[in-house]
Amino acid sequence: MKDKSNKTYFEGALSKILRHAEKTGTEKVSVVESCGRFLSSDIIADINIPLFDNSAMDGYAVKHDDLKNASRDFPVKLIVIDEIKAGDDFSKFKLKAGCAIRIMTGAGIPSGADSVIQVEDTFESEGNVFVSRSVSRHENVRFAGEDIQSGKKVLPMGCRIGSAELGLLVSIGLRNVEVHRRPLVKILSTGDEIADMEDALKPGMIRNSNAYTLMSEVSKYGAVHDYLGIARDNRDEIRNKIIDGLTGDIIITSGGVSMGEYDFVREALVEAGFSIIIENIMMKPGKPLVFGVKKNILFFGLPGNPVSTMISFLEFVRPAILKMMGAFRINKPVMKAVLADPVPKKPGRRHFIRAVFFIKNGALHVTTTGPQGSGILKSMSDANCLIILPEEAGDIEEGSEVDIQLIKHEEI
Ligand code: AMP
Ligand code: MG
Repeated sequence: MKDKSNKTYFEGALSKILRHAEKTGTEKVSVVESCGRFLSSDIIADINIPLFDNSAMDGYAVKHDDLKNASRDFPVKLIVIDEIKAGDDFSKFKLKAGCAIRIMTGAGIPSGADSVIQVEDTFESEGNVFVSRSVSRHENVRFAGEDIQSGKKVLPMGCRIGSAELGLLVSIGLRNVEVHRRPLVKILSTGDEIADMEDALKPGMIRNSNAYTLMSEVSKYGAVHDYLGIARDNRDEIRNKIIDGLTGDIIITSGGVSMGEYDFVREALVEAGFSIIIENIMMKPGKPLVFGVKKNILFFGLPGNPVSTMISFLEFVRPAILKMMGAFRINKPVMKAVLADPVPKKPGRRHFIRAVFFIKNGALHVTTTGPQGSGILKSMSDANCLIILPEEAGDIEEGSEVDIQLIKHEEI
């Protein structure tokens, strides 16, 4: 969303990007391999969980009426007529008045019983159990369907499958599940000064950390990465590498998008047939980001400074990946915290400040990680959140309430 002065603001840029990010097709995967994927439709249970009323405790299945008058001084004696272990076919057991059936956690409640007295409140001797307290009806009974009811929605479309969701899918007997395909993300570094891990570090060169932080981020959110290597600051080389990336769903480059003499990504992108949708966003760090599209392929030209690369990934590429994978929740959690130190700022851009939140006097506080240069990658490692300062804000005083975005929340 550009205003008259040709400025693209953060929110407008994000909604434009998300508008271009289309859900990938679906595929069936085994439930066991579905962790980190997103459901492409609602999951409806066709059984109850638990499947049958069962005991929440080791103890005795009883009729609560029989124990009405039980107390420590006047225990009630019941005849132990049977035992039901977890896994036993409980349908063949029946409880009569004045009797108890020894029962284990998870075992089905026999007909005639309405509650379970836990073993700790009993004493068994010679075929009788002495119970030293009363029980309320249904005490320690887990009812069929109390977790999941047959015919009801267990998990909604767009839900991320984590450990609990995987457990639910297995519980209701699913072997396979339909999810969105993982987008393929091509990663390219640009710059004459960039040396890869195995290359000698000649004078004036730096290591290619961006490709690796990006690969790690891409897989964290469930997409697949493919490394295109390093293109030198040469328009043809960058264009050819971008063309190599056209088999992907997303191409990410780092570096080469500023206004320097040797920043060729924009031109190379156009030569590779992309339309540029966004360039320059009113944010810090990350201003020179370039976003382009060619058919369904999204292109993110991220600025090269390692913090700018990571933050622009986090704020723009990550949501696009999640949307493509069908996620219904793509925003990282944002909370309010009290600023523990003053932060200088000029109005105009949205700032993303690396910071650490902590609890003091029962309230959430936040302090910056120190120097905020966009080359200081350690600040990302030290941070557990980003302070987000709105465009219009000027200097922020200590004690002000600010928004913090929790960034070490891996799944979203
Ligand atoms: P650029 O956006 O190309 O002007 O790069 C900005 C800064 O980021 C420069 O200091 C680069 O050396 C640095 N940089 C660019 N690409 C990478 C990379 N792949 N890994 C680490 N730093 C990089
Ligand atoms: Mg460069």
